[in-house]
Amino acid sequence: MRKPLNPAPFPGGYGRSASRRGFSAANSNTRISPSGAAAPRLPEAVPVSMIANLGLNSERSRGMMIQRLREQGIADERVLDAMQRVPRHSFVDEGLASRAYEDAALPIGHGQTISQPWVVARMISAVTENRDPVRVLEVGAGCGYQAAVLAQFIKEVHCIERIRGLYELARQNLRALRLISRVRLSYGDGTLGLPGVAPFDAIIISAAGIKIPQALLEQLAVGGRLIAPEGASVQRLILVERTGSASWQREELEAVRFVPLKAGIQS
Ligand code: SAH
Repeated sequence: MRKPLNPAPFPGGYGRSASRRGFSAANSNTRISPSGAAAPRLPEAVPVSMIANLGLNSERSRGMMIQRLREQGIADERVLDAMQRVPRHSFVDEGLASRAYEDAALPIGHGQTISQPWVVARMISAVTENRDPVRVLEVGAGCGYQAAVLAQFIKEVHCIERIRGLYELARQNLRALRLISRVRLSYGDGTLGLPGVAPFDAIIISAAGIKIPQALLEQLAVGGRLIAPEGASVQRLILVERTGSASWQREELEAVRFVPLKAGIQS
């Protein structure tokens, strides 16, 4: 039997009734299709009974997810390999495990979400393409999934989460997969970055602010890349490359919808 890795750490929880209580997977940390409509929900890969164990069945579901990511234009083999290895279903509540390999964001409690697989693949690919970053920062660890994917091929992964309950959930999830020694997780306000650890070869911001925080732009190594969703009701992924000590180049990528980047911490 698979033990529940994520017992609901919040009143009510999401659990099995999440979709029935109106959570829309298109709400957060998701790509908006070019027509403006949310990406269509894909059929479930396999029934929940088949992925109850961390075994062959979930591996097969992950294989289908990887195939879909390739069809959606993700080509970086390091990222695809890493996503093939990380069991995304162990980062969500047991009641949502059957949906873990759909291309959807899912609730993780505290009003936050685990990012859509395409979003994770796109963001990591954009900052690692044609380069070999050693020290990477993720702002907004959530349940720790993206950090686990990064840790598959990045030597030094640093991660910040501002909600204590999620920081603890990420710790628990990463520990269960024996990744806790490879990911340095901090509880704090990620808009400030980690000045004592900087510079970073790559920075991924997993929540949307009106503007990319200046502190994070300053903590990027020259030649390094940062990716972040930017905007309020209309958001886009922005890819930034630091081209010199006082110069940054910006490129606008896809339209997305992310949870908000907030200052301060929440206990
Ligand atoms: N990386 C996650 C996505 C989590 S959702 C994944 O693997 O799927 C985004 C997270 O950013 C939320 O948990 C939210 O609490 C967090 N967040 C928002 N503002 C933040 C800030 N200033 N510092 C750190 N975390 C922040």
